[in-house]
Amino acid sequence: MRLGRARSVGLIGLEATLVDVEVSVGGGLPRTVLVGLPDAALHEARDRCRAAVASAGFGWPEHLVTINLSPASLPKAGTHFDVAIIAAVLAANGAVPSGLLADSVLLGEVGLDGGVRPVRGVLPAVLAAVREGIGHAIVPAQQVREARLVDGARVHGIASLADLAAVLAGQSIPEAATVQPPVRRERVADLIDVAGQLEARWALEVAAAGAHHVHFLGPPGVGKTLLAERLPGILPDLSTADALEVAAIRSLVGLPDVGELPRRPPYAAPHHSASVASITGGGSQIARPGAISLAHRGVLFLDEAPEFSPRALEALRTPLELGRIELARARALTSYPARFQLVLASNPCPCGQAGTPGGVCTCPPMAVRRYAARLSGPILDRIDIAQRLRPMTRAYLRAAGSAGEPSAAIAGRVVEARRRQVHRLREWGWSTNAEVPGPVLRRKLPPPEGVELLDEAVSRGQLSARGVDKVVRLAWSIADLAGAARPRPSDVRTALAMRRGDDAVEVRGG
Ligand SMILES: [Zn+2]
Repeated sequence: MRLGRARSVGLIGLEATLVDVEVSVGGGLPRTVLVGLPDAALHEARDRCRAAVASAGFGWPEHLVTINLSPASLPKAGTHFDVAIIAAVLAANGAVPSGLLADSVLLGEVGLDGGVRPVRGVLPAVLAAVREGIGHAIVPAQQVREARLVDGARVHGIASLADLAAVLAGQSIPEAATVQPPVRRERVADLIDVAGQLEARWALEVAAAGAHHVHFLGPPGVGKTLLAERLPGILPDLSTADALEVAAIRSLVGLPDVGELPRRPPYAAPHHSASVASITGGGSQIARPGAISLAHRGVLFLDEAPEFSPRALEALRTPLELGRIELARARALTSYPARFQLVLASNPCPCGQAGTPGGVCTCPPMAVRRYAARLSGPILDRIDIAQRLRPMTRAYLRAAGSAGEPSAAIAGRVVEARRRQVHRLREWGWSTNAEVPGPVLRRKLPPPEGVELLDEAVSRGQLSARGVDKVVRLAWSIADLAGAARPRPSDVRTALAMRRGDDAVEVRGG
């Protein structure tokens, strides 16, 4: 009986566990057995690995080969165990030295031609390996750069099983041989492209400053999507820890451009016809991350929000509260981070023309009410800014000039406003105005000047009691942008105006 060992990583969501691949060769009739909770894809590894080993010119043992993946209780999924299985078989067979295997994790799927293919989740897997003190990561050649985002491991890229044998024999693979796909840099949309809409641009700036959720209301074509897309461009850069988290989620869904740490907050905009699973995450065996996790530390934009299914909107509730989502599926309970800034856009009515100067709404009144009501309740409760947008006339645009301020200038003010918040809120550990709970807002922070404006608004029925806290949070963000020590009456008035559109919707919807 001969033994070989190698290590890989099992992933349940972002949670990574080292998996030992043990191979014993000898005794019994020649066949290959795979044990240790494999899924269907992993079960096929047996045949895939045999074929790859044969075409690479190594022999598969003509004995009973038992492959055991442990811990046995951990459900294992995916095709990335192939390379570790082959390394353990070759080591058991004496075809490769086993020295380096004791201090390595191996990741990669093999093709029938003996080539090594990219797999999902290299980044979280290598992060886990480094945490466990492993010194080497052997990964598909195309994913070297992704693995190198993690400090602390020596990364070896392999394009074939011949490369694997060379690495294990202590030879270095020339870097030129490990072909890297070009890094795809996303173009960050700039607010300079948005003509007019000064109020809405200002609302977006305040939203960025205090991490407030926004609702843009207006007829089709006024620029709601243009504005939402430009929110990530005025948010502060991601910290290294946040960027690694964002990159790990992208790695897990197999996005091809995990080549450098993303510094811009991500942006996800699922279509209203998207399934609940694609929005929140899902899948039959072990859940995959959805749009809300791809928007983690960034922006989730729901265009035509009332058209989303009530189930999809309802499913946003827990992540909006907790910043994560738990998904129970057949083989495992998976938890993904999902702390995003929500931007909703909605038309005033199904046809989009209600309340638009010169527009003729053709919707029955009942349909208009139903449409608005679809957004009421838990989701609107979370929205701080409701900003109405109106169509810009040509004359207005000529007068205002077509170009607005560039995003970089706004981002500079946002960073400064965030710095003030971190400083003010440090004793509680919060970093944005949006996070401050009502009681702290009312009792611990100095009251805004002109707070009586809010009492008036409440007594006139223009503002709900719950709305008061929201207006105060907004007023703080406006004051932070202005560098004021506390909100001034004009800040409170502006905040009140930003809040009111939403109350109007609630009244109509209720
Ligand atoms: Zn209409």
